[in-house]
Amino acid sequence: MARIVQKYGGTSVGDVDRIKNVANRIKAFRDAGNELVVVVSARAGVTNELIARAKAVNPNPSEREMDQLLSIGEQETIALTAMALHGVGVPAVSYTGAQAGIFTDKVHTKAKIKTINAKPLEKDLKAGNVIIVAGFQGIDEAGQITTLGRGGSDLTAIALAAAIKADKCEIYTDVDGVYTADPRVVKDAKKLQEISYDEMLELASLGSKVMQTRSVEFAAKYGVVFEVRSSFNNNPGTIVKSEVAYMEKVVVRGVAVDKDQAKVVVSSIADKPGTAAKVFRALADANINVDMIVQNVGRGGVANLTFTVPQTETSKAQKALAAVLKEVGGEVTVDEKIAKLSVVGVGMRTHSGVAATLFDALAKASVNLELISTSEIKISVVIAKDKADEAARVAHAAFGLENL
Ligand code: ADP
Ligand code: ASP
Ligand code: MG
Repeated sequence: MARIVQKYGGTSVGDVDRIKNVANRIKAFRDAGNELVVVVSARAGVTNELIARAKAVNPNPSEREMDQLLSIGEQETIALTAMALHGVGVPAVSYTGAQAGIFTDKVHTKAKIKTINAKPLEKDLKAGNVIIVAGFQGIDEAGQITTLGRGGSDLTAIALAAAIKADKCEIYTDVDGVYTADPRVVKDAKKLQEISYDEMLELASLGSKVMQTRSVEFAAKYGVVFEVRSSFNNNPGTIVKSEVAYMEKVVVRGVAVDKDQAKVVVSSIADKPGTAAKVFRALADANINVDMIVQNVGRGGVANLTFTVPQTETSKAQKALAAVLKEVGGEVTVDEKIAKLSVVGVGMRTHSGVAATLFDALAKASVNLELISTSEIKISVVIAKDKADEAARVAHAAFGLENL
C-alpha cells in the first residue's frame, strides 16, 4: 500500500466524460490498495473565461474579488469528481483549499502557502475515503479565500504531498512527460526520463508551463520527488528529482519559450545614483516580477532602462512607474509583441560556446536579438513574438536535442 497524491490538470477534467475517465483511473489505484489524495484543476478554459468576465465588468478588478471568483472553477470539479467516484462505488469526499487546511499569506492572486493543517484530511483518509482537493486555492489567517497564481494546482499537489508525507506524487496532464521543448511546437522534441529540480525550475520559470514555477521551487525545498504523466495513456512519465545521472554531460537539456512577457523601456531618466533603485523599488512594492534588466550607457545626463515583466502586470507596472517618473523624469513604453526564448542545461556550468551556437543559429534564421541575459545554467534572448516558434525549432536543432 502506498500513499499517493495525484493531480489532474484542466484538460484531464475538461468535460463530463473526462471526469469519469479520471474517476476510473483513481478507482484502479484505490482497488490496488493505495491511499489517495487527488488534486483537481478547473475545467480547461474556465479560469480564463472567469478572468475575461471580471475584466468585462471592470478592467481593474479588485484582487480579493478576483480570488472569490477564480476559486469557483476548482469548486465545480472537486464536487463532480467526488460524485463520479461515488458512481463507480468509491467513497470520496471533496475539500476546498480551506477545508484541506491550506493556509496562505494574504497576497491575493499569488498567495504563498504558509502551513497545511492536514489533520481533517488524515482522519478522512483513515476512514477509507479518497480525498479530492481543489487546486490553486487556500485561505489566509483572516479567513479570506486566496489563489496561488496561474497553474497553482501543481503547487497544491506538491505541498500536500510534503504535508502528508506521500510515497508518490504524480502530476497528470495532457502530455506524457517533460520534453526537450514544447512538443506542440517542436515536433521532434524528446521526452526526458528524468530531469533535475534546477533544470525543471529554469524551464518552468522561462515559460514551459508544463509545471508551475513555484511548485518546482517547493518540491526542491522539501525534496518532493514527482512524476509528470499523461491522464490519457499509461506511458511512463518524467521523474523530477534532485540529481540525475549524465547531468553534466548534456550541455543543453531543453528550450523554453515565454510569449506572456512584455518589454518595458523607461527612457530619458536621470543618470545619477539612486534612480534605478527608485524605479525597481516601486515595482517591487507593487509585487511585480521584473527580469532581464539592461541599462544603456548614460549620455547627456540621462539613461534608458529596459526590462521585461509578465504581460498580466504591465498596467500595474505602468501605474507604479508613473509615480516615480514624476520624480526622476523619463517616459515609459511597453511592447507586448515580444517573446523570451531560453536554452537551459546544468552542463553549461562546465561547457563554453553555448551562447555562440545559439546566436549563430538564430542569426541564420534572421531572428533579431533585442535583449540577452545569461546565468550559470541558462541563456535567454528577447525576440519578436511572431518568430518565437520558428526560433524554438532552430535552437532545438542547433543543440541536437532531437537525438538526446
Ligand atoms: P494542465 O492543465 O494539466 O496543468 P498545462 O497546460 O498547464 O496542463 O501544461 C501542459 C502543457 O505544457 C502541454 O500541453 C504542453 O503544450 C506545454 N509544454 C510547454 N513546454 C513543455 C515541455 N517542455 N514539455 C512538455 N510540455 C510542455
Ligand atoms: N485553474 C487554475 C489556472 O488555470 C489553476 C490550475 O489549472 O492549475 O491557472
Ligand atoms: Mg498547468
